[in-house]
Amino acid sequence: MRKTAWAFLISTAVLVTAFAGANAQSPIGFRLLKLDGRSVAWTGEILATKVTYAFVNAPTETPDAMNCGSIGPVDGLLGKSRIAPDVFRKEVRAAFDLWEAAANITFTEVEDPARAGILIGAQLHPVGRAFANVAYKHIADTRDVRSIERSLICLNPEQRWKIGFDGNLTAYDIRYTVAHEIGHAIGLDHPGTGGQLMHYRYEERFRTLQRGDIEGVTKLYGVKPPAPAAPVSASSDPILAKAAAAARTEPTR
Ligand SMILES: [Zn+2]
Repeated sequence: MRKTAWAFLISTAVLVTAFAGANAQSPIGFRLLKLDGRSVAWTGEILATKVTYAFVNAPTETPDAMNCGSIGPVDGLLGKSRIAPDVFRKEVRAAFDLWEAAANITFTEVEDPARAGILIGAQLHPVGRAFANVAYKHIADTRDVRSIERSLICLNPEQRWKIGFDGNLTAYDIRYTVAHEIGHAIGLDHPGTGGQLMHYRYEERFRTLQRGDIEGVTKLYGVKPPAPAAPVSASSDPILAKAAAAARTEPTR
């Protein structure tokens, strides 16, 4: 990622509020995030889209961001909700794994926030529950999908957070909430239909991606290719290879 890329960011990048309002209808259970009229996705890799993420380790200001513009370490949030840091980290990893298992995209944690594609932190000016911010590269690009430059995910440290579901809808499961925000961070919006992880409403009915979520992420990143150990791979089977290629090029049509 070019460090100077921030200079090219569009200041009007649409920010997405978790659990707050949605109105568009989507008959198939997902809706692509649109920024200035076009959908957005992480791009640049041929075989698989590789995205990095990091937890911020110091106050981090993003002046152009409409959400998560001021974020910091999650220590205070975890202390208040009595969640151990290593448990929090595992839950966030599990949230990324949900998306990684569903489509041809991978997520790798890096130590240095300056090198990460997705930054995760606690809000320094607490509001709402959780937010995501998506900024795309402002480059000459006529494709239907804009390339995401950086995404931010922030949690309100004043809210009550927990691990797992317990039926108390005033305290929020870390994994579920972060998975929802990751969905925004990779280019998905709130679908018009309920029953999906990307729906804005916080419900403790399921803790995995639903059909619409999977259709949405595969629309952007393609289906997950067969594991390397599989006897038949996409590259060796012309039919699978053709299907995989079609899936990959779908967003650019
Ligand atoms: Zn949301």
